[in-house]
Amino acid sequence: MASGSCRELWLSFLFVSALGYSQPAPIQITANLTDAPRKLFHAEIDLPVQPGPLALTEAAWIPGHHSQKFVESDITGIVFTANGQTIPWQRDDVDLYKFHLTVPAGATTLHAHVDYIANTKATPELAVLEWEDLMLYPAGVPVRQIAIEPTVVVPQSWGVATSLRPISPYDPQHPAGGTIHYAVTNVETLEDSPIMTGINYKQYPLNAAARGVAAPQGLGQQKPVYIDVFGDTPEDAVLRPSVVANLEHLVTEAAAMYNSTHYDSYRFLLTLTKFPPYGGLEHHESSDNSLPPNALKTDDALQVGGPVLSHEYTHSWNGKYRRPAGLATANYADPMRGELLWVYEGLTDYLGNVLGARCGFMNAEQYRAYLASTAADLDHTAGRRWRSTEDTAVGISGMQGGSAWANWRRGSDYYPEGDIVWLDVDTTIRKLTKNQKNLHDFLAIFVAGKGSTPPQIVPYEFDELVTDLNQVVPYDWAKFLKERVYTVQPHVNVEGIEQSGWKLVYTDKPNEYDEAHSATFSHDQAGPNVWYSLGLNLDAQGAIGDVRVGGPADAAKLAPGEKILAINGIVYSVDVMKDAVRATKTGAPMNLIVQNDTHVRTISIDYHDGERYPHLERIEGTPNYLDEITKPLTPAPPAEKEKTASGQ
Ligand SMILES: [Zn+2]
Repeated sequence: MASGSCRELWLSFLFVSALGYSQPAPIQITANLTDAPRKLFHAEIDLPVQPGPLALTEAAWIPGHHSQKFVESDITGIVFTANGQTIPWQRDDVDLYKFHLTVPAGATTLHAHVDYIANTKATPELAVLEWEDLMLYPAGVPVRQIAIEPTVVVPQSWGVATSLRPISPYDPQHPAGGTIHYAVTNVETLEDSPIMTGINYKQYPLNAAARGVAAPQGLGQQKPVYIDVFGDTPEDAVLRPSVVANLEHLVTEAAAMYNSTHYDSYRFLLTLTKFPPYGGLEHHESSDNSLPPNALKTDDALQVGGPVLSHEYTHSWNGKYRRPAGLATANYADPMRGELLWVYEGLTDYLGNVLGARCGFMNAEQYRAYLASTAADLDHTAGRRWRSTEDTAVGISGMQGGSAWANWRRGSDYYPEGDIVWLDVDTTIRKLTKNQKNLHDFLAIFVAGKGSTPPQIVPYEFDELVTDLNQVVPYDWAKFLKERVYTVQPHVNVEGIEQSGWKLVYTDKPNEYDEAHSATFSHDQAGPNVWYSLGLNLDAQGAIGDVRVGGPADAAKLAPGEKILAINGIVYSVDVMKDAVRATKTGAPMNLIVQNDTHVRTISIDYHDGERYPHLERIEGTPNYLDEITKPLTPAPPAEKEKTASGQ
């Protein structure tokens, strides 16, 4: 069946108003998450229809993923009924997310039952629903124009957190579980409003408005901001008071940085769970974050876990409100164009980490360790010899693959490259204006130019970045950005780091950020860090995840997937490898026994430089912009002051 005819028929019963298309009644969707412990979600959907051919669709290109939904996370168990009869359907053989059916005579409502296999999004204690996993709606209509009324059913006593507005009684301090009804919204906003639910739940207000203060005063206090935490255990859902203070500080620091809000309220939704995947997904009025249970428990881990939250929060301004035109699609069937992801993700990475330092997730020294690690990692990515950073952004929607030869392919490098490029922009503005201006002046135009707004999308193209930067200080910004992002750069450009008063060096002292990162995410399986020395990515058992192209291990013809059994005649362990690398400096050999599937061979790596880890070293006699950039602009709230004063 040709999809065009269905689309016209659907549109024919809609009436055109001055604001666009409309529909007779909202779609009703009830997400039933009571089967979450069995990793199944269900939905009952009632769509207002009229007789004739109809095409319904799932969301395919998901905002924030910048790519098409994976087929393995597909909606399943679909049954359509109308007038008490099951309706046959046919999948579109080109657009695999679309379903064709014919609504029978006399029917005004089509019912759809759908299931979702929530393999990575549900445990016996908690569940996360991103609505694209359960939604079906008419194809070919801009998603903002489709009204939909959501209801959620969760197990008894489970707490529920979302940016949707509840219309049934709901008390976050005494969660009862069961059924909760939410106000009518549209498909675009529903897709943007995940549900997080679980038995171990705690909500923390992060500013005056969230605490219910009438007419709240002060920076960042007017629009309520909360963090809703779900854990595997009751203890996992409890945040340290100092972390709550860091988060309160994050809200005032973001207000100082962005001088605007583009949400009516904001919720950090957070699961602290031993079950990966970990990461964050941004939304206008919330973010869906998942971290290991230990990620906020110690200050060492906080430098790694905390910035996930400041990154996702930043997206409310940069990514959700200001969005590259190529990613601001009217319909999730339309392909997204990722060219400007080095702004969407790259600028967010820079700002999120700077905010993370300003609010106390990491101190100035830890931020420098992060930056050194980022710059060194990029510089040791061999794939930058053949492709630009912009190409990693354009290519991300089709990018696949594991760790083998990942450094030769390059990954989503537009994230970390953004930390380097935007520091370069920041320090170049400072240099050109004798430190009278900086990146804040760009943000004042880019995200705050029209003041605060409710959630909305304001698209931009490359030329606007250049225009806005030129308003801050005239310069050939187009050339500056094209050189750094759009051309092949075999080495990372460290000009921004050096303008900030520091230089990238390698010493035999491990990088603090790298150590904390592997301790937080490796579950004690961290291998030795020999990437900058031997050019190997190793796990605790000696398995080779990747070989750096052009490095000593590459010259010795080692390969990803092989396993190191012994070093200089001694059975492999993390410490044996570390000791052997250290000893290369005093002339010791690096002779390995290596297993490749059923074969074993001996090889030796020609390497003599000992341990090598990246650090930043101060360039004396130059302005120290970097430490100025990470300094907070607003006072720390009381609990955090206590923490600093007592040196904990
Ligand atoms: Zn992001």
